[in-house]
Amino acid sequence: MNQTFVTEIARKSEDLSRWYTDVILKAELADYWLIHGFQVIRPYGYALWENVQSRLDARFKATGHRNAYFPLLLPESLLAKEAEHVAGFAPEVAWVTAAGSEELSERLAIRPTSEAIFGTMYSKWIQSWRDLPMLLNQWCSVVRWEKATRFFLRTTEFLWQEGHTAHRTAEDAQAETMRMLDVYQDFVEKDMAIPVIAGQKSEAEKFAGAEATYTIEALMPDGQALQSATSHFLGQNFARAFDITFQDQDGLRKHVWTTSWGLSTRTLGAVILTHGDDSGLILPPKIAPIQAIIIPIPGKSADDQAIRDAVEQARQSLAERFRVEVDLSEKTPGWKYSEWELRGVPLRIEIGPRDVRANQAVLVRRDTREKQPVPLPGLATAVGETLDRVQDNLFARARAFLESRISRADTLADFQRALQEQPGFILAHWCGSPECEATIKAQTGATIRCIPFREPEETGTCIVDGRPSRKRALFARAY
Ligand SMILES: [Zn+2]
Repeated sequence: MNQTFVTEIARKSEDLSRWYTDVILKAELADYWLIHGFQVIRPYGYALWENVQSRLDARFKATGHRNAYFPLLLPESLLAKEAEHVAGFAPEVAWVTAAGSEELSERLAIRPTSEAIFGTMYSKWIQSWRDLPMLLNQWCSVVRWEKATRFFLRTTEFLWQEGHTAHRTAEDAQAETMRMLDVYQDFVEKDMAIPVIAGQKSEAEKFAGAEATYTIEALMPDGQALQSATSHFLGQNFARAFDITFQDQDGLRKHVWTTSWGLSTRTLGAVILTHGDDSGLILPPKIAPIQAIIIPIPGKSADDQAIRDAVEQARQSLAERFRVEVDLSEKTPGWKYSEWELRGVPLRIEIGPRDVRANQAVLVRRDTREKQPVPLPGLATAVGETLDRVQDNLFARARAFLESRISRADTLADFQRALQEQPGFILAHWCGSPECEATIKAQTGATIRCIPFREPEETGTCIVDGRPSRKRALFARAY
């Protein structure tokens, strides 16, 4: 039984793409919808997203932001106000053209992002330097019509948060842009246990309408990068387009400086890909919907009541501090183990007849399968410590993988060889020209993920045209 259950999913090491879809469907994270590219997020997947939301939202609040909600639709004329912005998004905008049987006089865009919507309201709400900074965020969904889609990683409608802020000076806006990139890095590394490389996007890869885009880039097990969150310094582009001005202390009317930043359900795809194994998901304890599952192991019927009592005692001792559940279903323990392993619950707690007699429970880690008997009176402490160890181990092993997959290339031939031999990040000198960037993309499929902050200045020559470069860019093929 145990065996058949597990073999229904592809092996992660053999077919990552099929494994990914199998695990999502079997673990009931998401399901297909009738319209291509859309997904239904099921309760277990949504609980995962809710934990992401609450932990990230707490960080937004701690840095002075407030939540609001803005409309789903915007008139075409509004979206068109910032030229670069509309050009960037036009190919993937979905339109509402009729209401009932009536054709609309102006078609309405379903928000692909909300800079234009926030900008319109900010021009009304911001009058004086006293109104600044304005630090708002919204949790919502956006629609970007996609041709090739995959659960979480690329869906036509996706859930995210988008922060939009307005500031008095360029320095303030720049500081906000970097602060939120740090918030994202802190959240993704500490809570999702996914190591990332932070840096700045190239001109070609930056957000449409931004002065500068900053990103955190993760590396998936197949060596492809996954952009996990971005933070944009928008300069005064949107302030000019939407006429967002304020009277400064010196009495002069000035344009504000704005930022925007977002993290989406795409990161759940990164969590699934990064940590899972052949048996299914492995969820980081900090965001796992269920952190520990208690499984009673039946013995002789005379032991039944004692086991039930011990299980209930264990549940009660954990319920206040942890998201814990008990599996009292009729399935065999082996079947239950497989099922909860598939669902990625970081810790299993077994209680059988022998454990009851010894007044203990057995903890089994999902990440290492290590077993540890623990006295029932000290259960909560042991569970807390073990979950911390699982969280740390997931991050440590993902970081070891990422670091092992960074290579350096000094010629285009080296670059191609490195990408073939060991797909991953490649650090290479690039002169800064969009032509050289396009050449590398055309010949290797790799794009500039960012100009990483952590790389030191170093004199070198562009791997395409030999022109001077002062720093290596980080390249990879990407999701
Ligand atoms: Zn070049």
